[in-house]
Amino acid sequence: RPRALSGIQPTAGSFHLGNYLGAIRQYVALQETHDAFYMVVDLHAITVPQDPAELRANTRLAAAQLLAAGLDPERCTLFVQSHVPEHAQLGWVMNCLTGFGEASRMTQFKDKSARHGADRATVGLFTYPILQVADILLYQADAVPVGEDQRQHVELTRDLAERFNGRFGETFTVPAPYIVKEVAKIYDLQDPSIKMSKSASTPKGLVNLLDEPKTTAKKVKSAVTDTDTVIRFDAEEKPGVSNLLTIYSTLTGATIADLEQKYEGKGYGALKTDLAEVMVDFVTPFRVRTQEYLDDTETLDSILAKGAEKARAVAAETLADAYDKLGFVPAK
Ligand code: ATP
Ligand code: MG
Repeated sequence: RPRALSGIQPTAGSFHLGNYLGAIRQYVALQETHDAFYMVVDLHAITVPQDPAELRANTRLAAAQLLAAGLDPERCTLFVQSHVPEHAQLGWVMNCLTGFGEASRMTQFKDKSARHGADRATVGLFTYPILQVADILLYQADAVPVGEDQRQHVELTRDLAERFNGRFGETFTVPAPYIVKEVAKIYDLQDPSIKMSKSASTPKGLVNLLDEPKTTAKKVKSAVTDTDTVIRFDAEEKPGVSNLLTIYSTLTGATIADLEQKYEGKGYGALKTDLAEVMVDFVTPFRVRTQEYLDDTETLDSILAKGAEKARAVAAETLADAYDKLGFVPAK
């Protein structure tokens, strides 16, 4: 089986609809076809200031949501990044293989440091894409399910894998991004020119999966569309409506063509009312399942401990091989 690897940050409490459609849904699907590793990336979370109690709670909350979304610990390896020390260890190696200029070209760093105030950005935030390289390479991943915003980091991973393999001999699998085009970028409901994002979205444009279902319905119903009345998919001319059609289609399995036909001659109100219902039907059981996992921290922690054990077995083997290739004397 090919390997898949992805990570998600525990920082915002609730995941949002962009995280789910752009990434987590693919995590669930890839369990069937891949030897899949998924982790809550707490090492990445501390690239910006974190309250310790909140970080701890959010890490468990992230894991609970991943399980609620359909990750099955029998069919994938779910773990917390800091439980596997090899991430930081291979991260250092990758830091030493990356050019300063090369790291400076990462647009996510530019965006995020601008948002946090350039002078307050940490070195950790600057090098986080390189830690991500290590995250992926440790598992010899073939496929990395992510949204469009992460494509550049997977490209960096490919470059560094090839660089290491070229200098020291075949060590790492060169991974490919696994990006589902239709859902690679879900947009803010209030401003369909920007991506839905926990840190950049407007509160009304950001659909958190753990919002009260009533709030979710309200956000969908007040989504920004356009002054035209026709319901058709046209990302250029009608970004708001197209975003709603993408969400609707992905959650229900109806094709965009089916939906265009269904809403022919009907107004935006009808589309939004129906989509609000679809969303409520999706988030209601999701919230219940998440809470069930949170109510039983013992089970949750033991799922994560087992996952870490499985992950470590793979990561340790890769790290040992990389250390050996680098010329480190074995410690025994
Ligand atoms: P931030 O704004 O802090 O980067 P985020 O909202 O992008 O946060 P992340 O934790 O960075 O959330 O992303 C987790 C996963 O969700 C990544 O694979 C990312 O590509 C994907 N993702 C995030 N936002 C969207 C979106 N609007 N559409 C599709 N995929 C998304
Ligand atoms: Mg992001």
